[in-house]
Amino acid sequence: MMQKKIFFQLLFLFLFSVSEAKEMYLYEGAAMGTYFTVKIYSNKKVEFEPLIKELKNLEEKFSDYIPNSEIARINKMAGEDYIKVSEETILILEKSIQLSELSNSAFDPTVGPLIKLWGFKNDKFNYPSVREISLKLNLIGFQNILIDKDRVFLKNKGMSLDLGAIAKGYTADKIVSVLRKSGLDNAIVEIGGDMFCLGSGKELKGWLIGIRHPQKAGEIIAAINVSDKAVATSGDYENYFFYNGIKYPHIIDPRTGYPVKNGVVSVTVVSDEGLKSDGWATALFVLGWEDAKRIVESKKDLEAVIIREIDNKFQCWASSGIREKIEFYEN
Ligand code: AMP
Ligand code: MG
Repeated sequence: MMQKKIFFQLLFLFLFSVSEAKEMYLYEGAAMGTYFTVKIYSNKKVEFEPLIKELKNLEEKFSDYIPNSEIARINKMAGEDYIKVSEETILILEKSIQLSELSNSAFDPTVGPLIKLWGFKNDKFNYPSVREISLKLNLIGFQNILIDKDRVFLKNKGMSLDLGAIAKGYTADKIVSVLRKSGLDNAIVEIGGDMFCLGSGKELKGWLIGIRHPQKAGEIIAAINVSDKAVATSGDYENYFFYNGIKYPHIIDPRTGYPVKNGVVSVTVVSDEGLKSDGWATALFVLGWEDAKRIVESKKDLEAVIIREIDNKFQCWASSGIREKIEFYEN
């Protein structure tokens, strides 16, 4: 009798552990002009169809690389007419405008003409003249994005929207919401280096996310433990060019027209939303060491790790809300 009981107990334990055993499902590809990876831990079979559909939907709206995307159509009609767009495009533009206001124009989605002028879009780097920059500066200004219910108009001819600093994070949010709707709650969604860490990882101890070393490719300078958080990094090592021995990164200060050179080399933002982490990482990079630290500490919904280069060394700072969850390595 006793043996039978033990047998059933063991059988139960075995069945329980099999049903709990989570398999890893991987889906990788290219979207929004970059690469993405979705890694899901689940004990039921994962269907990727809804993800594929969502990515296609977002590309058709926001991609720079699709000539007829909603953003491309708004750009084409700049200075001419309003364009009717989806609710989702209105939403991302409203959020972008809000971030521009909050960051005192350090973030500005109308930075497109400057990004093109410096050649960051097509990898044809070019050091422009002061005159060229000042002409393009006339076209920059989120205040000139006019939204009328479901229609958008860029006030001046030559203006162009560039959602490159926010779209990866927003895409991660949308993928996470598709996963959640399918009952999946343990996954890493990574798009061009920006991540959403859904759930608490395979061992349920949180996801351990490395922050890239700003200079040593393939090495990490710190690691943070997060659960249910979006982690986005803006770094001067992502896309840059050298001119007269000086490095110019693809993040531009929309107020001066020049690539940012303020000593900050990397900003990682941790928040509940991909759009927020992605957008603020870019904005804080522009704002620089002191202002960025002050803003992060004043906002309950943002945590950040900021790295600057000073006297040929890297100095790292983590906001008070994540200090205990981060480990720094020798640099
Ligand atoms: P991220 O890697 O998220 O920092 O985004 C960088 C991309 O955002 C660049 O390649 C540009 O397309 C765009 N961008 C650069 N500077 C700004 C800025 N100050 N505000 C908004 N978007 C920007
Ligand atoms: Mg960004």
